[in-house]
Amino acid sequence: MISFVKYENMRKNGFKRPFHKLQVISWVYLSYLFCIFSFMTITLFPYPLKTILAIGYAGLLFSVILTGFWCTYIDPSDPALFEAAQAKLLSKPVDYKKYPKICKICKNHVNSDTKHCRECDKCVYHFDHHCKWLNNCIGKKNYKLYAFLLASFQAHNLMICICGGIVIKGILDESIYYENLSILMHITRGSLGVYLTLLLMMEILSLLAAIAMFQLILFHLYLAFKKMTTYEYILLKRRNESRYRVSNIKVVNEKEVIEEVPLEEVYEPYIENPQYKHDETLQEINTTNKKIAPSDEINAN
Ligand SMILES: [Zn+2]
Ligand SMILES: [Zn+2]
Repeated sequence: MISFVKYENMRKNGFKRPFHKLQVISWVYLSYLFCIFSFMTITLFPYPLKTILAIGYAGLLFSVILTGFWCTYIDPSDPALFEAAQAKLLSKPVDYKKYPKICKICKNHVNSDTKHCRECDKCVYHFDHHCKWLNNCIGKKNYKLYAFLLASFQAHNLMICICGGIVIKGILDESIYYENLSILMHITRGSLGVYLTLLLMMEILSLLAAIAMFQLILFHLYLAFKKMTTYEYILLKRRNESRYRVSNIKVVNEKEVIEEVPLEEVYEPYIENPQYKHDETLQEINTTNKKIAPSDEINAN
């Protein structure tokens, strides 16, 4: 009997423990920037710029948190898994004929545009990549949200980076920002070093994040232009670079040395669903017959 991974036992979303360390780092990063930027940077700007910046930042942060949460919370698994679980729960028969593939890893019947994620240990519909920062897979169900998250996160980083730069320069030039430091925030010359260090850390962090985001956004724009997913791009690149000849289980290189390579790294670990093929052929015949019948009548008339 085939033992398959049940839907109810699968990892549903990125909030399921254990959290990834990069996910925790992203929460710490957002919290740190929120504290330093809200209470120690925007405060120094004159009115009405201060109000405009506060509203703009609140909007961007809200957008980042909302899209980030949603993207992490969504279960991107293949709808076939849920359908099979529901059918089992209601003691209904499962129509396996409509699924063209069977996953070799979780042994589930799935749609054609599906890839098994090792991290989540489930089949993901229209798999793009597994995002460690969100601790979740990015697929058909959350890709648009992910794109929106990248855009709003980048706007958030740039805003902090630019405003932080203005404040640091203003303090060093002893302009109005320097005056506001002592008037509004009661910062003396003695604590100025600590304040500048915190501000400089915010500046470096937001600049590094902005550079990384810029590269990532460019990459995804390129993928959209090429109509590819990240996974398809990686596979194509790996196939082009690979000097290996692939057999069913092992990979044999040019020196005839056999190496164990996980199958999913070489190609998609799926087999065709024999029921689907049979059913599809029947359906095709039926559809063709139906299409031919009326036109024959017209020709006869
Ligand atoms: Zn699978
Ligand atoms: Zn995953």
